[in-house]
Amino acid sequence: MTTQYSDYVRRLEHLLEVCKNLPASLDLQPLLQTIIETSSDLTNSEFSLIYIFVKEKGFLQLAAAPFFMRKDLEAAVVPSDRSIAGRVMETGQSIVYHDLAIHDEIFKLLNWEIEQGFKSILAVPLVHKGETIGVLEAVNKAKQEPYNDEDLMFLDTLSSQAATALRNHQLIEEAEQSYIKAMELDRMKSDFIAISSHELRTPLGIIIGHVALMMEQCDPAQKKDLEVISSSANRLRDLIDQLGNIDQLSVLGGKIKRDRLDVAMLVQSVVDAQRQPALDQKILLLMKDPAQNLWVEGDADRIRIAVRNLVQNAIQFSNPGGKILVSVDQMPGYVKIAVSDNGIGIPKEEQQKIFDRFYQVERHLTRHHRGMGLGLAVAKEMVDLHRGKITVESIEGKGSRFTILLPINMAQVDAAGKVFS
Ligand code: ADP
Repeated sequence: MTTQYSDYVRRLEHLLEVCKNLPASLDLQPLLQTIIETSSDLTNSEFSLIYIFVKEKGFLQLAAAPFFMRKDLEAAVVPSDRSIAGRVMETGQSIVYHDLAIHDEIFKLLNWEIEQGFKSILAVPLVHKGETIGVLEAVNKAKQEPYNDEDLMFLDTLSSQAATALRNHQLIEEAEQSYIKAMELDRMKSDFIAISSHELRTPLGIIIGHVALMMEQCDPAQKKDLEVISSSANRLRDLIDQLGNIDQLSVLGGKIKRDRLDVAMLVQSVVDAQRQPALDQKILLLMKDPAQNLWVEGDADRIRIAVRNLVQNAIQFSNPGGKILVSVDQMPGYVKIAVSDNGIGIPKEEQQKIFDRFYQVERHLTRHHRGMGLGLAVAKEMVDLHRGKITVESIEGKGSRFTILLPINMAQVDAAGKVFS
C-alpha cells in the first residue's frame, strides 16, 4: 500500500467514524469542536471554522474556531458581503482559494479572511434539507499545497452530516425556548387568574351579603329587583369559582385527598342542591336509588365539583319539561356516576372537543346559554386526578349522557398503569 493510499483509507475511516457518532452528540460545543477538528484532519489543514447563519438577524456568526483564534473572534459577526464565507452562504456553492495573496486583487471585496491572515481556503456550505444554515471552512492547507478534489469530497460529506447534526441542535434549542416561553405564559396566566379571582371574590362576597340583608328588610316591591341582583351576583361567584378551580388544579398538580367516600351520598347531596334551580327551569331532576353504599377512595370536594358541573350542564342544556336522571352504580373495580338528560344533545364532531378548556359548541356571539366553557374541562381534570374516566354519549336533539368512572382503589390503578406502560 502506498503512503498516499493508506492516508486516504485512514481519512475515510475517520470520516465514517465521525459520521456515525455525530447524530448522537448531545452538547453543542463538543459537536462543533469535533466538526472543526475532523475537517482539519480530513483536508490536512492548519485549522477550520464554522459560521452559522443567524436567520432572525440576517448575519453570519463565527460559531467555532481553533483555540488560538477564539479570544478575539469568539461569536464574531462576519460581514456577509465582504467574506468568502458570506459568498458561500449566498450562493450555496463551495469555494476554493489556493493562495489568497494572489486572489487579493480580484477579490478585493471578499477580504475578511485575508484580513485574518488566511492563506488558502476550502469553504463548503452547510446544507440541511435544501436550506443553507452556515459554512464550514478549512484554512491553510499544509505545506502550502493546493486543496484537491479529494479534500472537497471529504469536506462535502462531512458538511452534510454536520449540517443535520447542527440543525437538530438548533431545533432542540428552539423547542426548549418555546417550552420556557410557554411555561412563562402559563405562569402569567395562572397568576392573572389567581389574583383576579381573589380580588373579585372579596367585593362580590360583600355585595351578596348586603343584598341578602336588604332582602330581609325591604318591602315586597323591591324584593324582585334585589332577587335579580342576588342571582346575578351568585352567578358571577360561580364563574369566579370555576376560574379558581382551574387555577387550583395547576397549583395542586396531582395532589388530592384520599379519603374513604360514600359516592352515593355525595352525589345525592349535589342533586338535592340542584333540584330547585332545575325546578325553576321546569325541569325534573331525579336520582335513582343506589342498591347499596358505594365507596371509593378520593377527594369529596373535587368529585362534588365534577358531578355538580355535569348536573348544572344537564339543566342548562335541557328544555322546559325536560327530565334529568342521575345514577350511581357499582362496576367491577369502579363506581359509575351517570347524568342523563333529554336536552338539546351535542353534535358528534363536537363531543371530544367539549372537554377542552374554554370550548363551547355554540359560537360566542350567537350563543343562547351562559358559561365560560370551563365546566367540563374542570370536571375532566378532577376525574383525571382520581385516575378515573369521563365520557359522553349524545344524540343531537335527543339528549346526552355523561358518565364518570371512579376507581375504588386508586393505588391499584396506579400499579396497573406502571405494569402496562
Ligand atoms: P360551559 O360552562 O360553557 O357550559 P362546559 O365545559 O361545561 O362549558 O361545556 C362545554 C360545552 O359542551 C357547552 O358549551 C355545551 O355546548 C356542551 N354541553 C355540555 N354539557 C351538555 C349537555 N348536557 N347537553 C348539551 N350540550 C352540553
